[in-house]
Amino acid sequence: MSQPAEVLIIGAGPAGSALAYFLAQAGRDVLLIDKAEFPRDKTCGDGLTPRALGVLRHLGLLERITDLGCRIAGIHLFTPDGRCVSSPIPPHGDLPRHVVVLPRYQLDDALRAHAVAAGARFLGQVEALELLRDGDTVAGAHAKSPTGPVTLRARQTVLATGAAAGLLDKAGLLAAAPQYGRAARGYYEGLGQVSDYIEFHLESVPLPGYGWVFPISATAANVGAGYFVRPGQARPSSPRRVLDEFIANPLMKERVARARVVGAIKGYPLRFDFPTTRLAYPGLVVIGEAAGLVNPLTGEGIDYALESAEVAAQVLIAALQADSSPSQTETRYTTQMRARFQKAFLTIGQVRDFYFKPWLLNRAGRAARRHPDFCATLVNVCLGNVDPGQGLSPKMIWQLVRG
Ligand SMILES: Cc1cc2nc3c(=O)[nH]c(=O)nc-3n(C[C@H](O)[C@H](O)[C@H](O)COP(=O)(O)OP(=O)(O)OC[C@H]3O[C@@H](n4cnc5c(N)ncnc54)[C@H](O)[C@@H]3O)c2cc1C
Repeated sequence: MSQPAEVLIIGAGPAGSALAYFLAQAGRDVLLIDKAEFPRDKTCGDGLTPRALGVLRHLGLLERITDLGCRIAGIHLFTPDGRCVSSPIPPHGDLPRHVVVLPRYQLDDALRAHAVAAGARFLGQVEALELLRDGDTVAGAHAKSPTGPVTLRARQTVLATGAAAGLLDKAGLLAAAPQYGRAARGYYEGLGQVSDYIEFHLESVPLPGYGWVFPISATAANVGAGYFVRPGQARPSSPRRVLDEFIANPLMKERVARARVVGAIKGYPLRFDFPTTRLAYPGLVVIGEAAGLVNPLTGEGIDYALESAEVAAQVLIAALQADSSPSQTETRYTTQMRARFQKAFLTIGQVRDFYFKPWLLNRAGRAARRHPDFCATLVNVCLGNVDPGQGLSPKMIWQLVRG
């Protein structure tokens, strides 16, 4: 069987579905495939930052997603000494002043359906096994479907397969082994003290890393823990073990004791090697977490998935209209992505490695409790609104030193 398309998008997570929507909306012929049938679960904290909500606004989905999800008004940040800094979501440009927590089972299906409503074709249970090539140019994929093998030819192919790097690896397109963090989460019904604030916990977790409580209703929350591993650093035994230790700490134990876990507790990797990974090849662009786009401080990846889809949409719509060569498209996409994310990702990684020490984080907590401007910047960094390299003014460093 053969299914030709102008643009083939492999993977219908937030990156793939958002791009499918933008392209279909511009009148392009789009085939979106996923190895899963939808709706499907994706192991995640389910948190949508104001930046992610900003792109959902461009997609015309902000109100729907906010109505479906749990609207969050602020943040509690627990430092390693167990003390808390609290803040409402600070204003940042014209971004929404709230966060939304919505299980991925619902979010991803809403995005996928939105793309289909705009005219994209979607095939579930179709797994790309190998990229198809015409000489040096990627020209689609060989896939398996419930009815047998299928060849998906396309003028432009997009890889939006998340943390799984198998396709790139198999095609010999992976320059280096990807860098991964690890995290696990469960849904806890009847959890104590659930409010309309999300919680980040830096106590009882390996650093750099954190535990979280992200409310999904007035009585339930997505509770998880994750960590990043620096090269040469010993890796914790498993994300599940890290989660177990997090919920056994004195701040969580009583709350969890009364709660019931709904569904399975699941772990999954997070790929965060954007600065060093290749982003495009002739005939192929890579978006979302498949391009290593996970914030190396917060583990947040949905916003970057959506933002990279916006970048790819602009480049691909122009390229298809102008009939640009595959190598021109490759260069334009890479240049735009590097201009947008490279500096921030590099500084976030450096700041994380320097500041994620218990005594320094405790000191930052003290400074945040004393100085509202320090607190607002800290929260903006946690939300990915502010690049920590730019946010740390001399005044803030002085406030941090004084603690
Ligand atoms: C435990 C955990 C907690 C997290 N918490 C948050 C959070 O709270 N907020 C946040 O913003 N980010 C969070 N993240 C990161 C976030 O989940 C990802 O960065 C985000 O899902 C990336 O979106 P994506 O569209 O690039 O890829 P994905 O959402 O992973 O989607 C990829 C899709 O590709 C499909 N696919 C893969 N291979 C193939 C193939 N060969 N053929 C066909 N289909 C294929 C998959 O089935 C999947 O549907 C968390 C991650 C983890 C592991």
